[in-house]
Amino acid sequence: MSKVSTDALVLGAGPGALAIAAALAQEGLKVEALANHDPHIPWPYTYGIWGDEVDQLGLDHLLEHRWKNTVSYFGQGSADANDKANAPTEHHCDYGLFDKIRLQSYWLNQCSNASVIWHLGTADKLSTSQRISTVTTIEGDKFQARIVIDATGYKPVFLKNRDMGPIAVQTCYGIVGRFNSPPVKTGEFILMDYRCDHLSEEEKDEPPTFLYAMDMGGGKYFLEETSLGLAPPLKLETLQKRLDLRLRNKKIEITELIHEENGLYLPMNLSLPDLNQPILGFGGSAAMVHPASGYMVGSLLRRAPILAKAVAEKIKDKNASPAIIAKSGWKVLWPKELRRKQALYQFGLEKLMRFKDPQLRAFFQGFFDLPTDQWYGFLTNTLSLEELVKAMWDMFKKAPWSVRIGLMGMQGRELKLLWDFLKPLR
Ligand SMILES: Cc1cc2nc3c(=O)[nH]c(=O)nc-3n(C[C@H](O)[C@H](O)[C@H](O)COP(=O)(O)OP(=O)(O)OC[C@H]3O[C@@H](n4cnc5c(N)ncnc54)[C@H](O)[C@@H]3O)c2cc1C
Repeated sequence: MSKVSTDALVLGAGPGALAIAAALAQEGLKVEALANHDPHIPWPYTYGIWGDEVDQLGLDHLLEHRWKNTVSYFGQGSADANDKANAPTEHHCDYGLFDKIRLQSYWLNQCSNASVIWHLGTADKLSTSQRISTVTTIEGDKFQARIVIDATGYKPVFLKNRDMGPIAVQTCYGIVGRFNSPPVKTGEFILMDYRCDHLSEEEKDEPPTFLYAMDMGGGKYFLEETSLGLAPPLKLETLQKRLDLRLRNKKIEITELIHEENGLYLPMNLSLPDLNQPILGFGGSAAMVHPASGYMVGSLLRRAPILAKAVAEKIKDKNASPAIIAKSGWKVLWPKELRRKQALYQFGLEKLMRFKDPQLRAFFQGFFDLPTDQWYGFLTNTLSLEELVKAMWDMFKKAPWSVRIGLMGMQGRELKLLWDFLKPLR
């Protein structure tokens, strides 16, 4: 069955799809969306964001939790509480967790106020002519639009990304529960706890992992053992075992397991999409995840209105083909400066993936010793290219020789990424 054509067809119902569907509709475009599930079904994950970031967007009311006491631990760790290696690095920046239902409703309400029409179906085939793009679902429905925005996540149904070799994947094993004694201090949020005194010497030689943890209030805690990014990824059994060892070392037992997050998979160094294809992408599909932090929601909120404006402007030209509209969208979604920054971030991630545990801890200690504006801007991707280069250079100058040597040696695809930084692909 063929459906009437629309201005924009958004594929998916994750944060990326909702953000861009809402923004396009607010630009006055006729928007339809196609997803393989009801868009009101709650997402499987809960999303975190820095306090300043959410405040700048004026969306603090969408948070479920907000922590003021935000710290990391980069010391060796030891049983002695007076040991300096146990001292926290204080971030002096609030951190928040979105109430995922509120965030989803925020975008869905914008969609319904601007008359976005939702369809249920699994996008399967795409054809593009001079005038229109047609998406066919596996159920046999056809949808036509002047522009298609593929927001179907990290394994997009239609978007083509450049092949950059093995993908570095962040894996985590997390639990929400109650414990016989508090696993983190009251009101504390831990971004990274790299203390590793619970590991044997052989285990310390294996790829490092850190604890991401928070006091959720009411006696509940969220603990997640995380591997920053590896290709091939660290196994979930290893992460689970590490979390278990970490707790046992502190004689902490789980008294109630409320929720278990198993099998979380987050590709960190996705290569940029081919910017010459006649469709657009948004979110994970368009490699918008931050290669250093794995975060994306702040970026979705900031960049959706920019992309929507460019698309709406181009669509006014009745003769503009899907390829022309897509080109104008890609130009604002991945401008040259952002592509160069992406190459630098990915270059940095390559380095970190090679670091052994002591190097990694020394690196992060130095990173969070940078002025807050620098490390915060680095992690939220809000620095200009010049500021990003300066932050990385300042970090290099401060770093101990063990870290500098690791940063200087070129291996694998690092040279290619440096070349992309100097001369980004179009
Ligand atoms: C475990 C984990 C934790 C994360 N934590 C954070 C965090 O704390 N903060 C942060 O900012 N970011 C975080 N991220 C990163 C990022 O924000 C999320 O991955 C986010 O879910 C990506 O949104 P998306 O809409 O691009 O993709 P997805 O959320 O994967 O959504 C894709 C959508 O497309 C639909 N779909 C797929 N194929 C088809 C098809 N053929 N036809 C129709 N529909 C289809 C899917 O059903 C889904 O609705 C995290 C990611 C992971 C994996």
